[in-house]
Order: sequence, then C-alpha cells, then structure tokens
Amino acid sequence: MEKAVKRIGVLTSGGDAPGMNAAVRAVTRTAISRGVECIGIRRGWNGLINGDFIQMDASSVSHIIHKGGTILYTARSEEFKTAPGREKALGTCKLLGLDGIVAVGGDGTFRGALALSRQAAEHGQSLQVVGIPATIDNDIGCSHYTIGFDTACNTAVECIDKLRDTMQSHERCSVVEVMGRHAGYLALYVGISVGATAVLIPERPVDFQRDIVEAIRKARLAGVTHFMIVVAEGAGSAVDIGKRIHDEIGIDPRVTVLGHIQRGGSPSSRDRETASRMGYHAVMSLVANKGNRVIATQEGRVVDIDMEEALAMTKPFQMDRYDVLEALSLH
Ligand code: ATP
Repeated sequence: MEKAVKRIGVLTSGGDAPGMNAAVRAVTRTAISRGVECIGIRRGWNGLINGDFIQMDASSVSHIIHKGGTILYTARSEEFKTAPGREKALGTCKLLGLDGIVAVGGDGTFRGALALSRQAAEHGQSLQVVGIPATIDNDIGCSHYTIGFDTACNTAVECIDKLRDTMQSHERCSVVEVMGRHAGYLALYVGISVGATAVLIPERPVDFQRDIVEAIRKARLAGVTHFMIVVAEGAGSAVDIGKRIHDEIGIDPRVTVLGHIQRGGSPSSRDRETASRMGYHAVMSLVANKGNRVIATQEGRVVDIDMEEALAMTKPFQMDRYDVLEALSLH
C-alpha cells in the first residue's frame, strides 16, 4: 500500500511548555521508524514562511527528552494569520516536498494549521496537518490533558513550599500569582497541592469578602498564623489583591509573581510519557492517511479528533475540585 505521507515537518508554536522536546523526539523517531522523512521547522509558523528548517534524523533528537523549552524554538507569527503569509508557507512546503505537518502548541497553533491545510486544498496541494496540545494552562477543549501542565504544577508547588517555610516562621500571609490568563487549572491544582487558604480563578467571579476575608477569618479562628493565597493571573493581579488584604484586613502580605519560571525546567515523567505517546499517535495518524486531526487524551487514552470539531470543543471547568479545596481548608 502506498504511504499516505513521505516527508513531514514538525514545529513548535505559541508559548513553550516542558515536554515539547519529548513530543518532537517522538514525532521524529516514529516517522523514521515508518520510513517517513522528517524536517524540523524552526521558530513556529515563521519558520515555514521563511524556510527556516533542519533535517532531522534519529540522533538529532538524542538527549532532549529531559530538556525543557524546545530545540526547534517557538514563536508567534502575525504574518501567518494572513493568506499571503500562509501562501509563502505553502511555497516552502512545496519546495521541501512536505506532505504532512505536525504542529505542537495550543489552540492558536491548531487554528493556523487548519487554515494552512484549507488553503493548500484550494490549490489542490496535498498537505495533511496534525496538532499536539502543549500548554501549561491545560485549557484545550478537546483534551483532558495538555503537555507541560504537570511540570508547571510541580514547579509552582516547589516554589510555594519554599515560600511557605518562611511564611510559617514569620507568621505572614503570602499571595502567589501563577499563570493562567483564561484558565484556573494550574491555580486550582496547585492550590489543592499546597493546602492553600484560598484560590482565585478566572472561572469563578472573585468575591473578596467571601473568598479572602472569610477564608482568613476561619483559618485564624482555627489557630492558623500564616495564610497562602494562590491567584491565577486571569483572576486579578496578586499585587492588587495583596494591597486590598493590607487595606481591608490590616495584615501585611508578601506578594510573589512566579511568572516564566513556571514554563521552564525538566519535564516530569507524566509530561515526557504523554508527549511520547502523542507524538507517536500523531505520526501514525498521518501514516494512516488521517489528516486535520488533533491528538488528545480522553479517559487516559490517546485519541485523535477532527481538527475543526476539536477547536469547537469546550472543557467544562472541574468545579468539583473547588469543593475539595474548600472542604479541606480549616473551618
Ligand atoms: P498558547 O497556549 O501559548 O497561547 P497558542 O498556540 O494558542 O499557544 P497563539 O499565539 O494563539 O498560541 O497561536 C500561535 C500562532 O498560531 C500565532 O502566532 C499565529 O501565527 C497562528 N495562529 C493563531 N490563530 C490563527 C488563525 N486564526 N489563523 C491563522 N494562524 C493563526
């Protein structure tokens, strides 16, 4: 039977996430094992526009499974959002003989992939695209899990544990801002893991009186002398919340914004293993002539979903986890 794809490109795009390298490794090695050539496209969609690429072989992905960041670099590309920009990218695909692309990134990256494959189809150019979800926010509708989330949680927990030691000694209040402009998964998982006094997330409108004043009052009554407030960046600024705690409760909180430290570091076992399975599945999908797919996890299994359907899917927020957080805080 003729192979569906002969030469594929792999790229990482959008914000980086620990485990992207493991995904690139899995895509490269699976492709080679199936007799498919693999080209690494550097700097996201910009690389496809500019012809910025490297030939991948089995050894070019040696010793990267444990590394954070992405050896292919990542970028955002305004030009790729335009039809002329994608036209240039299609020109590069033609020049390189690419008939498949595996794009590792978030929703935006998949939107770009879909737009590219549609534009290719308009010209009768054969280009199959597959997306692999990688973002520390875990906010991709079609997939229970996204590469990088577990490592980012572990990094934030490690930082907060250290902060907690000093907060405990000084009997202080700490306000820690974690990433998550639109999604509170990171804040909530981290909050449960560190036994936070309160967690503020974008999915739940913040009621300062209920969420902070009451939580601290109850903790104080239960004999607690230090308080840990975890704030997702999309729920408000930790600096503002700290100021309000100072003005309205009369305690002097210390504010820490974890920032980009959460994106870095060696990926956890969960991220390496998931990225490896997703990368394998992405290439197997192309080899089976199935394009326009997003690789996802559902009930712990790796599956592939039509890209347009995947982009329309929303993930109901796990509010039951909020109940767990509240039940476990001191009353
Ligand atoms: P993150 O989770 O870090 O936000 P992401 O993949 O969602 O990752 P975006 O910046 O939204 O990050 O998208 C990455 C790139 O994908 C954009 O810079 C752009 O080049 C391309 N892209 C996004 N949306 C579209 C679109 N509607 N059409 C074409 N290309 C797009």
